[in-house]
Amino acid sequence: MFSKILIANRGEIACRIARTARAMGIATVAVHSEADARAQHVLACDQAVAIGPAPVSDSYLKADRILDAAKATGAAAIHPGYGFLSENPNFAEAVAEAGLTFIGPPASAIRAMGLKDASKKLMEEAGVPVTPGYHGENQEPDFLAEQAEKIGFPVLIKASAGGGGKGMRRVDDPSGFAAALTFARSEAASSFGHDHVLIEKYIQNPRHIEVQVFADAHGNTVHLYERDCSAQRRHQKVIEEAPAPGMTPEVREAMTGAAVRAAQAVGYQGAGTVEFIVDGSGPLRPDGFWFMEMNTRLQVEHPVTEAITGLDLVEWQIRVAASKTLPLAQDQIPLNGHALEARLYAEDPARDFMPATGRLTKLHLPDALARIDTGVAEGDTVTPHYDPMIAKVIAHGRDRGAAFSAMETALAAADAQGVTTNLAFLERLVRHDGVRAGTLDTGLIGRDLAALTATPETTPADLALAGAALTGLLTPAPLAGWRPWGTGATHLELTRATGPDQVEIDEITLRPADGQIAVESAGGEACHRATQICGALWQVTEGARTRQLYLHQTNGTVTIARDGHRLTFWLTDPMAAAEATAHGGDSIAAPLPGIVKSLNVSPGDPVTAGDILAVMEAMKMEHSLTAPRDGVIAEVAVRAGVQVEEGALLIALEPADE
Ligand code: ADP
Ligand code: ADP
Ligand code: MG
Repeated sequence: MFSKILIANRGEIACRIARTARAMGIATVAVHSEADARAQHVLACDQAVAIGPAPVSDSYLKADRILDAAKATGAAAIHPGYGFLSENPNFAEAVAEAGLTFIGPPASAIRAMGLKDASKKLMEEAGVPVTPGYHGENQEPDFLAEQAEKIGFPVLIKASAGGGGKGMRRVDDPSGFAAALTFARSEAASSFGHDHVLIEKYIQNPRHIEVQVFADAHGNTVHLYERDCSAQRRHQKVIEEAPAPGMTPEVREAMTGAAVRAAQAVGYQGAGTVEFIVDGSGPLRPDGFWFMEMNTRLQVEHPVTEAITGLDLVEWQIRVAASKTLPLAQDQIPLNGHALEARLYAEDPARDFMPATGRLTKLHLPDALARIDTGVAEGDTVTPHYDPMIAKVIAHGRDRGAAFSAMETALAAADAQGVTTNLAFLERLVRHDGVRAGTLDTGLIGRDLAALTATPETTPADLALAGAALTGLLTPAPLAGWRPWGTGATHLELTRATGPDQVEIDEITLRPADGQIAVESAGGEACHRATQICGALWQVTEGARTRQLYLHQTNGTVTIARDGHRLTFWLTDPMAAAEATAHGGDSIAAPLPGIVKSLNVSPGDPVTAGDILAVMEAMKMEHSLTAPRDGVIAEVAVRAGVQVEEGALLIALEPADE
């Protein structure tokens, strides 16, 4: 077994590989760009080597620097992760020539599967069903147009060297063919340096189902069942699951059999995925799937397979690379329950999934509720240099329903602030009827995008909870309920994010009412009781109705996640709100997180309503805190110069005489 390996990747996959290596007692070497000097994958490894500036072409794609790093640190093998150099046969060869082991398939297998057209020919010969289409040498536009006619519209033009959905264009009728061809060619040329295309029949109601295969150097090839990755946006996977909904023993046998034949046909070793496009217009059929491509590497969504089999695929990869035999035979590979993976991205679903960047001012991922694979931590910055994936949330359950329940809970309990994410979109998606029924095809997200990104309606309970949380009136367990704040009503203006650069204002009035809080809003008046169950999980009771929700608080904002909806509020004018809640009360609390600049009073001092008692600096501005009523200072709870949290008690008055 290797004593040390180098991980030629970054982000979550580098962290994930390091975790298994550590468990196997193998030392790890990270490589990193200048932008990643303090990235999580560097912290996750025993050693780290800088390999160049931020752009991937100057760092993570620099094969020679990575090989130098391996030699300099004495690593015996290189794990390429996914993306980057993982499917580059020249790199696999260079690793071997340097006397090191490539933790992946032989270069010849990568090469055989590298081009979609050449691999399809090979697969046809191996008796694997292939999508009807033209995948020959002739690239004349008129000839290709003729082929498209012959295949029958709609067709899909694909870059032979394609990946990640790039260089792909659907054409519905002959009139659109020439323009689509030009587009696909130019995108292929700029993304892959190779403008060859192939034409395929566009499969109606397509589902994407892929088979995980594994082979060793001793002639053993097995499959680890299938994954359904039909929930896609712009040909990119968003949610993956295993096993595939509606799978039957007969179809599984046909599909996994074809996948194993595909792997054997190219002399495969290690982990690989054979992707099939599937006719989803009815139930799955043994003759209703066609080979699309083989990904000759570990796949992003491999954790769902790990969840249902209980196996560690990275451990298997390392063992196979070390010439060991596969740990299990086909009939020993378990299949337990159902697993889902959701990809949390820094992107804006409402703006056509445009990638977002920025600093993650808050990142809470509930690793007690689901498996979390991530490569960033709170405080890290999502940069434009790399893939904007923040984390993968992997939920496992006894059956499909249980897996979905676990995923719903994990997503609601998660919070990310500072960067636009697809979290709210994911919460909607896992509750979508088509997704829940397992009848989704790859077009579902595109068709229902408006509903999946719609702004949710607020309820009086949302407004009460948000208003109380933002003004420091919500008390954590065991003090169930609301902090008493005198008897007066509090008028607040809440701002709520409703879309890209869009907000909505809610005016509300909060009143204490017998241990409950009464909220008056445009939606009417209602009384609520709130109790913290644990952490961000709260229970809100309104009359006979009790609901649970997650309440996420950060500097000046509060996010409520409930029923698959996520609402973020902040106070339009925090200082006005602070005065409102202080009115008639006995205490002065920090309206915002900030620094106490000065304190003007000491215990025993008499004060008059409106006197300035303290000055705070928050959000680069000074704010005066005034006496809510006439009275005597009972307590000064802070010193000047200290940093205080929002809602922290600063000054208390002696109780007013009755
Ligand atoms: P999957 O089916 O596993 O999502 P993709 O082919 O879409 O496979 O790509 C897998 C991952 O590899 C992507 O999420 C992305 O992070 C990375 N990737 C894809 N293409 C490139 C590329 N050209 N350069 C760097 N990384 C890439
Ligand atoms: P990439 O290398 O970019 O991953 P694939 O060939 O794997 O390209 O296709 C990516 C996605 O495009 C599939 O998951 C599927 O959603 C869609 N797709 C590919 N081929 C077809 C087809 N013949 N008919 C319908 N949809 C297809
Ligand atoms: Mg693919």
